[in-house]
Amino acid sequence: MTPFEITILGSNSAVPTPTRHPTSQLLNINHHYYLIDCGEGAQIQMRKFGIKFQRIEHIFISHLHGDHYFGLIGLLNTMHLLGREKPLTIHANRMLREILNLQLSVSNTKLKYEIHYNYLDDETESVILKDHNVEVTATPVNHRIPCFGFIFRETEKPLNIKKESLQSLKLGVEEIKLLKQGKDIHRATETIYAADATEAPLSLRKYAFITDTKPKESYYEAIKNSDILYHESTFMGDATQRAADTFHTTNLQAAEIALKTNCKKLVLGHFSTRYTKLEPIKVEAQTIFKNTELAIEGTTFKIEH
Ligand SMILES: [Zn+2]
Ligand SMILES: [Zn+2]
Repeated sequence: MTPFEITILGSNSAVPTPTRHPTSQLLNINHHYYLIDCGEGAQIQMRKFGIKFQRIEHIFISHLHGDHYFGLIGLLNTMHLLGREKPLTIHANRMLREILNLQLSVSNTKLKYEIHYNYLDDETESVILKDHNVEVTATPVNHRIPCFGFIFRETEKPLNIKKESLQSLKLGVEEIKLLKQGKDIHRATETIYAADATEAPLSLRKYAFITDTKPKESYYEAIKNSDILYHESTFMGDATQRAADTFHTTNLQAAEIALKTNCKKLVLGHFSTRYTKLEPIKVEAQTIFKNTELAIEGTTFKIEH
């Protein structure tokens, strides 16, 4: 089975500590690499976990608080020094381009590869990337500065030809192509119905990444039925007011959202540095949503079909 997996590179909020890094995740969908946020130290984490970061094709930056992008200039520079030539696309607020260009120009660095920018300015939900592998939706969340959640979904696959049909009907290349599109085949002596010769493709896997937000119903529809919902959980249940004041979410609120939106698994992250032990964050959330896990650095969450 082709992979659909999320590796946690960092999941602390605000500041790095000797044992915890700010937000960053590597998403591998069918061997295509996508980086979500790039907190300080993300490139070192990728080296530590054996991730070949030159394979990254797209980088998504949720918002311009430093704990979500301060690792980016370092990563881009390393990619350059290691000889990258393959273009890279960055999906982010348009201000990021100016910040990066300033950093590159003062050091007289001319990257050997091109960066394409896709600006996330529009405060409405929209599909920001769609290709043969993935469809990515950006949905505005509710933070102190503009911030987006990202929803990754496998692209619709064509129908599969049943094994027995392939063998017994001796299908030709053109015939297979038509059947995969759901079209019937009319041979001189017989008709082969697509409905008989094909079966539905495997279900499409879905991952939702929602960080730095106060709960807001506007993104609930987009994350509905996700195989995994990553939701920020900066605080525990006793700090609801603090969470609201700082435009963040508690573990209990995240669990309620996972339940309400019918997600299969909840992964909590963006932990406040005040919590030295993380396990209680999970245990408390499980009183509402059983299938809850923690975004521990180095953990890979796999979505099976
Ligand atoms: Zn943050
Ligand atoms: Zn923030």
